[in-house]
Amino acid sequence: MKKKLLVTDLPCSEYEGKRVFVRVDFNVPVNGGKITEDYRIRRTIPTIDYLTRCGARVILASHMGRPKGRRIENLSMAPVAERLNEFLGIKVRFPGAVVGRKVENASKKLKNGEVMLLENLRYHNEEAENDADFSRKLASLADIYVNEAFGTSHRAHASTYGMTAHFEKKLAGLMVGNEIKFLSRLIRRPKKPYLVIVGGMKIKDKIGALKNIIKKADRVLVGGGVAYTFLAARGVSVGKCSVEKEMICWAREALETYKEKIILPVDHVMAEAGGGRKMRVVVTGAGIPDDMTAFDIGPKTVEKFTSYIKGEGTVFWNGPMGFFEVDDFSNGTSAIARSFALATWRGATTVLGGGDSVASLKKSGVKFSEATHMSTGGGACFEFLGGVDLPGISILSDS
Ligand code: ADP
Ligand code: MG
Repeated sequence: MKKKLLVTDLPCSEYEGKRVFVRVDFNVPVNGGKITEDYRIRRTIPTIDYLTRCGARVILASHMGRPKGRRIENLSMAPVAERLNEFLGIKVRFPGAVVGRKVENASKKLKNGEVMLLENLRYHNEEAENDADFSRKLASLADIYVNEAFGTSHRAHASTYGMTAHFEKKLAGLMVGNEIKFLSRLIRRPKKPYLVIVGGMKIKDKIGALKNIIKKADRVLVGGGVAYTFLAARGVSVGKCSVEKEMICWAREALETYKEKIILPVDHVMAEAGGGRKMRVVVTGAGIPDDMTAFDIGPKTVEKFTSYIKGEGTVFWNGPMGFFEVDDFSNGTSAIARSFALATWRGATTVLGGGDSVASLKKSGVKFSEATHMSTGGGACFEFLGGVDLPGISILSDS
């Protein structure tokens, strides 16, 4: 891939007095109006600092959650505006809308060095539909476009793709630039052996990337929800676990082709299906009984998986090993997280991608600094590593 023009590749004089639209990824967890984890916000501050110091008028926009075109109050960006006030030390303007008269007026009143944050982009269905009119309205707010939302770059939405056609200058933010630089190196020549750990829920979302990554990896450990589709493909009974039926065929083929490479769980922590309140937690080595659902990898699997996670080569991890949000089912993920951190200390290049994966690392008590690279994108990171062109990156100006 060609090198992309970075926001700092242009001198300050290019920004002074200009309105700069920065697509950020402030899709942070909020509980009772309070942000519980703000890694994604902190990571964008250097770009915002550079622009404000240059005298740009900065317009920030992000989505949060999946409001599906409706105005859902607890998915408002208002708490983010407050957190930004704190981080930037200035009062960030928050017009409380995405498009329309109020926003246009506020954008015109912005002074050099000031910052404005738009409301949740997904309050409008037009965002995900990449609607042309909506794209044009967003673009009309600014003179220069910056992508600082790596985690959303695999989506061709209005704010990541459609609106960019209206700009001559489309730049990569510093964080996006870092991600491209680090991950490109990993695509070209990963330090061997290359170990990939996949978990989480949906194979369908990950298949494009998984297909390519399996080829390059020396070993792929499959845990989490995605493991049950592979186990089903191998003919192991999976009880009430959700299996992606349309993926079984592909999984069977992959298991045939890469017999030695793909490592599946050998035991599970499970509970009675739909057990609601207090579930009976059982560990089994065999298949999963008909009335049970597996929510975590078992202790033998942990032993097996961790024996592959060594202090050499490259370790890429995306997707928790189980339903880690519930303590009874967090052991597998925690064990893998600690082993992943150990691999870093022992000299491996370790890369973690994915919103839930980052949260699971935190819950395991592993520090973010115990990974060589923490990607701000899950799907985006996975697809990029799999060699898939990300629309939000491809459209950026070449350097
Ligand atoms: P990421 O955001 O890191 O890319 P995913 O979104 O693919 O990860 O998946 C994360 C979710 O998968 C978590 O909410 C976790 O609880 C869930 N999960 C993983 N394994 C299981 C399982 N066995 N049963 C239920 N949920 C699971
Ligand atoms: Mg996720």
